[in-house]
Amino acid sequence: MLLPEKGRVALPEVKEHELVIVGGGAAGLTAGIYATRYGLDLVLLTIGAPGGQTATATSIENFPGFPEGITGPELMLRLTEQATNFGVTFESAEVQEIVAEGGRWRLRCGEADYLAAAVILTVGASPRRLKVPGERDLHGRGVSYCATCDGFFYRGLTVAVIGGGNTAIEEALYLADIAQKVYVIHRRDELRAERILAERAFANEKLELVWDTIPTRILGEDVVTGIELQNVKTERESRLQVDGVFVAVGYEPNTKWLGDLLELKDGFIVTDMHMRTSQPGIFAAGDVRDTPLRQVTTAVGDAAIAAASAYKFVAEWRLSG
Ligand code: NAP
Repeated sequence: MLLPEKGRVALPEVKEHELVIVGGGAAGLTAGIYATRYGLDLVLLTIGAPGGQTATATSIENFPGFPEGITGPELMLRLTEQATNFGVTFESAEVQEIVAEGGRWRLRCGEADYLAAAVILTVGASPRRLKVPGERDLHGRGVSYCATCDGFFYRGLTVAVIGGGNTAIEEALYLADIAQKVYVIHRRDELRAERILAERAFANEKLELVWDTIPTRILGEDVVTGIELQNVKTERESRLQVDGVFVAVGYEPNTKWLGDLLELKDGFIVTDMHMRTSQPGIFAAGDVRDTPLRQVTTAVGDAAIAAASAYKFVAEWRLSG
């Protein structure tokens, strides 16, 4: 029976590939390079432009082969160019759900769906929020999660960086070249950051470390004007006048949308050494994976293994079809 015009539901376009890579950061692009070289028919899905978290890094000093260091945007531009040269196809889509369908995986993205024998998830992680009053309202008006992106606006001003890890200290050092004064607010009395970065922070006259302290509120009506703090040992409260607050308190994996499809640990995707997840044909690589070290080097290593595993999986799937 034909449905009347207004009762018809538009079905999404379905695009079929042997492999779909979800995510365009360092891991996704590397998986794309390897998988195209294996001759797989693939598409790489990203929400925005490729680059991922690495594209926001001020400077990467420990990626092999760059003795002078390289900025995150420059490294990701080169990686994107390399992936494009090998024939990786990029499409803009946000995957909302993955479901099994006739021995393949259907990736639901709204307007278009993708059907694939194998999927590599390289969806990374997003900056963790402080969840204090003022943070959300003043995001983009003095609250930032990326010094490379927004540091430029604070020339000659005073800023606070929250956190004591590698990201916080790298951001603080970057901001010290721009701002007049940088406070680093850390909840303990010892940095988590690597020693080489910690020593640079201690030696930098523009940086002031505020130990054992957490932010409790970000102040300002239209723009940030200050920050309310509490010493976790003495419980003493204080205020600092700052023009910007850079939050660098770690990352959370982008896995909520997966529901209970895959085995997770603390939200990160559990894989074996072949980057296989708990579902056949779905692989994971990079920061989204449950891994002891999250670096660009480990992300690209994971991705090479994931692509090799996906290739083997697709080769067997081809024979079975
Ligand atoms: P991280 O290593 O997890 O450090 C997060 C920092 O934020 C810690 O100092 C933590 O304090 C603090 N923190 C967490 N939640 C907080 C809260 N609610 N309030 C206040 N402070 C809070 O995160 P990251 O620095 O973003 O680094 C993420 C990963 O990327 C790490 O594996 C890191 O090594 C890697 N990375 C590497 C480089 C590099 O190699 N050059 C550069 C950047 C990042 P505690 O210390 O008390 O836990």
